[in-house]
Amino acid sequence: MPELTYFSPKATKRASSIDGRGLFATAAIAKGEVVVVKGGYILSREQRDRIGEKLGPSEIQITEDLFIGPTAPTEREGGMMHLNHCCEPNLGLQGQIVFVALRDIAAGEELTIDYAMTDDEPYEMECQCGRETCRKLITGADWQKPELQKKYGGYFSWFIQRRIYSEYMTGVLESTS
Ligand SMILES: [Zn+2]
Repeated sequence: MPELTYFSPKATKRASSIDGRGLFATAAIAKGEVVVVKGGYILSREQRDRIGEKLGPSEIQITEDLFIGPTAPTEREGGMMHLNHCCEPNLGLQGQIVFVALRDIAAGEELTIDYAMTDDEPYEMECQCGRETCRKLITGADWQKPELQKKYGGYFSWFIQRRIYSEYMTGVLESTS
């Protein structure tokens, strides 16, 4: 049976110094290449919460009220991306489930996203990525930060990106009227 999530043949999961397990490049990946396509079942918020009690966090949000992820323990490993957060990530989103390289990536690098690209949930977590731009405290509302909206423009999950676009367009229209 095929796995729920697609992984580039140039990516593999192994232990990470950031957290638990991570996804790593096994060969050079060019900017723009598709690295992961998140798969699973489409879940309501209520289904997500119920499944999360059994599986832990294994899904991602795809619209204001829908999520995608595995539903059973046997599907968990094949469905999880193991993309850790980094404040200088090398992957971003195109749409809601397609993760592409933000820049050229060398073999051996851990593949990471900034959770600001995908998350709109009430949570806080500490980051120790050690990058110069490290925010130290990551929250589920970080997508609202103007500097991150600028940094990742076009690479947020679409349900977040469209909010940013509409806020921006409202500002443009107000300034010209
Ligand atoms: Zn950081």
